[in-house]
Amino acid sequence: MSEILQAVVDGASGADLTGMSLPESYRGAFVLRDEVGMFEGVSSADKDPRKSLHVGDVALPALAPDEAYVAVMASSINFNTVWTSIFEPLPTFGFLDRLGKESQWGARHALDYHVVGSDAAGVVLETGSLVRNWRAGDKVTVHCNYVDDQDPSSHDDSMLASNERIWGFETNFGGLADIAVVKANQLMPKPTHLSWEEAAVNALCNSTAYRMLVSHNGAPITQGDRVLVWGASGGLGSFAVQYVMNGGATPIGVVSSKDKVDLLHDIGVAAVIDRKAAGYKFWKDEHTQDESEWRRFGKDIRGLVGDDPDIIFEHPGRQTMGASVFACKRAGTIVTCAATSGYMIEYDNRHLWMKLKTIKGSHFANYREAWDANQLVCDGKILPPLSAVFALSEVGEAAYTVHRNLHEGKIGVLCLAPEEGLGIEDPELRAQIGEDRITAFRRHGA
Ligand code: NAP
Repeated sequence: MSEILQAVVDGASGADLTGMSLPESYRGAFVLRDEVGMFEGVSSADKDPRKSLHVGDVALPALAPDEAYVAVMASSINFNTVWTSIFEPLPTFGFLDRLGKESQWGARHALDYHVVGSDAAGVVLETGSLVRNWRAGDKVTVHCNYVDDQDPSSHDDSMLASNERIWGFETNFGGLADIAVVKANQLMPKPTHLSWEEAAVNALCNSTAYRMLVSHNGAPITQGDRVLVWGASGGLGSFAVQYVMNGGATPIGVVSSKDKVDLLHDIGVAAVIDRKAAGYKFWKDEHTQDESEWRRFGKDIRGLVGDDPDIIFEHPGRQTMGASVFACKRAGTIVTCAATSGYMIEYDNRHLWMKLKTIKGSHFANYREAWDANQLVCDGKILPPLSAVFALSEVGEAAYTVHRNLHEGKIGVLCLAPEEGLGIEDPELRAQIGEDRITAFRRHGA
């Protein structure tokens, strides 16, 4: 490890870091362009991130004027790293090549390796000449909305920018590494009461859930709403249920095991459906859905909370969308940001139009939404759903765990942080919020 990275680990001040020279290369987790065909003929479920994700040294790219180098203390696994590592639905090198054609700075990204990862918590090492609000030594988290502010389409809601990208998925130099290269407008303050790994697991899923359920750009919750959350103990779902409860609404969590039901009960979600135990078969076969199973699902929801859900928080996609459109309340909204089980969706449109329902698409969050969602973490109003921690050298195993749905909440990855539990600066605030509440997922995941 270089002198400067050791200095960060040792807690050096910004003044100490300024003037120290950066290493020419750094350790990162990456996939390789010449391996994109390695899973040909293998089913999606059997494509193994442990084979495609490598950890090794890569060259440190030059810093653009609007960027910062961040020493990454910890990062997390997001499902987009699973997609990149199984080369589905497309290899991500196409994204890097397109970015490479945009500008001199974009060209740095079009490489034969892709350093992945869309979350990070760490310390700013150096800033470009245009950066105003951040300096070396600042402790930060990083959100993944990578926006070109010279594009007029980015100046209403930056998620509407025609060339909006997700950092570490559609760009190179992501967060699963010892150094990340980010735009200054991705930086946010690190919550002072959290450890590095607790701080690193929030930005992507928390901001996405915030836009979907709180922002006027999504399907904002009203007090008293009933909100059905698929995958309620997973990455997105574990933030979604917190927003539902914070907003005076009632979550109905759907999960797939007794352990997950217990976890949700522990964090205050009373109405939980174990979809495995219920044995729903929404699809009779690959091409035909079963309306009687949608009805059974709807009846179970009403049995738990007395009415149909006003909002359905969707992301499994093909397997569940027919049931979601059916079960949603008259005039309700299905808000969706993903399609883990397949993106060619089928639902019975009669249930949508006759009952005046809306399907609303949503994708990550703009800087303002990500900032506000991060502030709620800083205030202890949203808690980190960290359930397990891996070393960067085990990143393949960590991504495999998420790919096979063997996890709960979020998985943290230690990059420069030598061990868990470091980086807590405000133990009083932590005690006030409650150690038990902050570590609820970790206890279940342990
Ligand atoms: P995750 O941590 O794996 O959680 C997903 C949950 O979905 C799982 O815990 C699982 O819960 C449930 N699930 C999986 N397959 C299902 C199925 N066939 N039917 C019903 N439930 C199913 O992943 P995540 O981080 O929440 O991400 C979920 C999806 O959203 C991914 O596809 C990801 O790429 C996408 N995403 C999109 C955005 C965006 O900005 N557009 C942001 C974040 C994530 P149970 O097994 O317990 O039911």
